[in-house]
Amino acid sequence: MKSLKQLYSFIFFSIVLAITYLFFSTAKIQQTLNENVENIFIKEAKSFAENINNNMKTTIKEDPYKELKEHPALQKKMENALSIIINDTFKYIFVLYRDSNGNYRYLLDGSKEDKARFNQRLSVDKKLWSSVYDTKVPLIINQKELDNLWITYLKPVVLNDKTVAIIAIDFSTQLPQSISNAIKPLNKIFIYIFIAIGLLIVILIYQSIRSVKIKKESITDPLTQAYNRNYLRDLLNNINITKYQIMMLDIDHFKQVNDNYGHKAGDSILAGTAKIIQNEIRDDDILIRFGGEEFLIFIKKSPIVSNLAYTIGQRIRKKIETSLFHYEDKELQITVSIGISCQPEHFKSVSLAIKYADEMLYRAKREGRNQVISNKVDDTTEFGKGELKSINDVKSALEDNRIICFFQAIYNIKSSTIIKYEALVRMREKDGSITPPIKFLESIMYTNIYNDLTKCVLESVFLQIKEKKIQISTNLNFSDILDNKIFNLIITELDAHKELSSWLIIELLEYELIEEITIIQSRLLQIKEYGVKIAIDDFGSGYSNYSIFKLLPIDILKIDGSLIKDIDTSKTSYKITQSITLLAKELGITTVAEFVHSKEVLETVKALHIDEAQGFYLAKPSADIL
Ligand code: GH3
Ligand code: MG
Ligand code: MG
Repeated sequence: MKSLKQLYSFIFFSIVLAITYLFFSTAKIQQTLNENVENIFIKEAKSFAENINNNMKTTIKEDPYKELKEHPALQKKMENALSIIINDTFKYIFVLYRDSNGNYRYLLDGSKEDKARFNQRLSVDKKLWSSVYDTKVPLIINQKELDNLWITYLKPVVLNDKTVAIIAIDFSTQLPQSISNAIKPLNKIFIYIFIAIGLLIVILIYQSIRSVKIKKESITDPLTQAYNRNYLRDLLNNINITKYQIMMLDIDHFKQVNDNYGHKAGDSILAGTAKIIQNEIRDDDILIRFGGEEFLIFIKKSPIVSNLAYTIGQRIRKKIETSLFHYEDKELQITVSIGISCQPEHFKSVSLAIKYADEMLYRAKREGRNQVISNKVDDTTEFGKGELKSINDVKSALEDNRIICFFQAIYNIKSSTIIKYEALVRMREKDGSITPPIKFLESIMYTNIYNDLTKCVLESVFLQIKEKKIQISTNLNFSDILDNKIFNLIITELDAHKELSSWLIIELLEYELIEEITIIQSRLLQIKEYGVKIAIDDFGSGYSNYSIFKLLPIDILKIDGSLIKDIDTSKTSYKITQSITLLAKELGITTVAEFVHSKEVLETVKALHIDEAQGFYLAKPSADIL
């Protein structure tokens, strides 16, 4: 598109240049033509003058005035000879002499009409004529002042080394006139072309101003004057995300504003909020209306302040909290919540970094609204209530082999023996303390570090299987199975540990099954070919759905802790668990009870014929498998 525009303007300006060149070259052509014609006629005039000169030299002995006066017949004959030469170009041909007073007088005149009398005085440019008289050199005079005359050619008649007369041939302007007449229409054409080009340029300028305006309208939200989603789409392709931090802002309880004061009041608050944000951010920052009452802001990073987005976010939040929004006669107050993705360059894509900021925003909402939550930037103190580890914290923990697995035993209830372990990822701090995954997994969601961590966990699980020759289960998300990179990583690990794969169990956290189910189906079947068992984690909570049995090749069902922990006291939990267990039995699926924290719970679970149990009452997670 851009290059096409460049091509058009290149062609356009080439044409303008070519026409300008042609215009000036016609002037040049006219001049050269004139000069050439001039040369041809001067040459002819010269030869005429030479003939006249020879003629005079043979007829006149000494003094032409005296001799011609005495012989009028001779004068008549010579004048006739001159008049033969006269035509449209050579308009006047005559011979003058200089009298004793320095005046020039006619000897011969070739004119057919208005013929001058013999010895009639002619007023001439004496200086020029005298120069011919005195130097005896012919002269060409360009007649600029005289109408109808173009050039006068003067040739001295020299007898006995003395100038006795001057032959004059006047050229009429008819010839150069006709040349310029011939070229005139061409000049007119050029003037028309120039006018057309001028018009075209005006139209083009108008069009481009219009298209800039249309473009601006198409990327601007009319209510808030912030950029809209169209702009965001372009931006996502072009932005250098290492230079920005991402902020997501949402108005708190905005629905109530609409409900209590009307949609128009809501609109005016939206516009006012956008105005405040625009005032608080800098020219380099980019404000986009992401949707409804949600704004996305790209904050240009600062080399001095490590989490500038957080500082600006707090400034915006405070400013909005303390502002009064006027609508009709009412004064309204609102608050906003803000989530920040402070190192978006760590994410696999800008969209995921935005999604992360959105998650931080919903955390801010969950934790009370009217606040800013950011993940931690590497070298600064905590921000917000999240106290999440930064991406670089996890990265350096991975590099120092401080990402480890704890193992929790799973018992066969009937035999009361440990039959497998669940691997649970942990971060070991430099001081030796242990950080749970809730504090660091969220930070690395969607980043490449997450892949590295998954690889690290899988390898440490295989190491344990190899050493202890016992089944170990590890946790993955359905989104991990869907992610091409992670799925390939799993397959690579399985290939590298083929003989150990049948000891591996993959626990998948259940989620709302959506259209990608066919991909998950086929990928799980591919994993199962290595002998890996598939377990569904936390069944009976959240999005749990019986259709999962039909859709996926499940070996093990882990019943959610929320049902197990009060199974000895809550009849509902008991009944639900019972029905899940019965169904699983029918389907040949092994059942596991999580959160077995007391003797009573264990006994109830045993009575329900659940196959396996896990929980603090039986064994806590520990760094080693005994
Ligand atoms: P929360 O604090 O959780 O964000 O509560 P909320 O009420 O702001 O959240 P929710 O997303 O449920 O409501 C957003 C409301 O914003 C719903 C919708 O009617 C309103 N809204 C979206 N776009 C516009 C708009 O252009 N003008 C007005 N007046 N209201 C809008
Ligand atoms: Mg809201
Ligand atoms: Mg909302």
